[in-house]
Amino acid sequence: MPVFKDIASLRQWRQSLRGTLAFVPTMGNLHEGHMALVRLAAARAEQVLVSIYVNPLQFGPNEDFAQYPRSLDKDLQQLHAAGCSTVFTPDDALMYPHGRKDLSIIIPPHSLTKVLCGASRPGHFAGVCTVVNKLLQMVQPEILILGEKDYQQLRIVQQMVADMNMTTQILPGPVQREADGLAYSSRNARLSPSERQMAPLLAATLFDLVQRSTPQASIAELAQAGRDSLEQVGFVVDYLELRDSDTLQAVNVARPGARWFTAAHLGQTRLIDNVMIPL
Ligand code: AMP
Repeated sequence: MPVFKDIASLRQWRQSLRGTLAFVPTMGNLHEGHMALVRLAAARAEQVLVSIYVNPLQFGPNEDFAQYPRSLDKDLQQLHAAGCSTVFTPDDALMYPHGRKDLSIIIPPHSLTKVLCGASRPGHFAGVCTVVNKLLQMVQPEILILGEKDYQQLRIVQQMVADMNMTTQILPGPVQREADGLAYSSRNARLSPSERQMAPLLAATLFDLVQRSTPQASIAELAQAGRDSLEQVGFVVDYLELRDSDTLQAVNVARPGARWFTAAHLGQTRLIDNVMIPL
């Protein structure tokens, strides 16, 4: 399994490829959520490229960039076993040769970035779009695979690809969960044993809200009840909101296709999740 660290060898490989290439960008510390995306990629394309890069541009000054879990050797073993064809592991010097200063930045649309995670993580989605744009220019995939776990990120990258007239097709993969419902996340590794026991309540709350989201229900009351049950057991809730799956605008009357979104801290760890009201 070739592991490219520089653009020249990646491009040479790309030019020699026959068939469709699907690209799965990741920040490493791979888990079942990532591996499901790799399998989806392999089912849709002859070649699969996974990138592993912890992008400093998408972390705020007080966020967990330094503590973000990194496990490259284990990641490569997993990818090899899963039949991944190729891996790209750029470093900061390759991605941002001039540092963070004087960099051309992609600014995604305000309406999609001012809400949810964008409200509490200013600049985060500009960092995401900038790195995804750079990776797409380097890799030139026909298909880009993104997880619905980071649903706002998915919508924003879809909008960027459309706005920039890129030809890459985006294929979303559903949220993968542990047996107790907790969405797989690289950050789960940072939960203490007691926090790990509490963590599935985040998903359970969303599934419960989805059940209770009838057209007659008061969405504000449901959101407050959900917040209360999370805060009772020690979560610090950043947001818990029902929003439109396309525009991400607030929804006041429940309808199929709308989506409950949450972000909450458990100790030092920020967890996010979302569940759609079934169509
Ligand atoms: P990350 O390494 O966290 O940047 O994630 C890389 C890709 O994997 C993104 O497209 C994520 O949305 C996706 N992903 C992460 N966790 C999950 C999960 N539990 N289920 C589905 N996709 C996921």
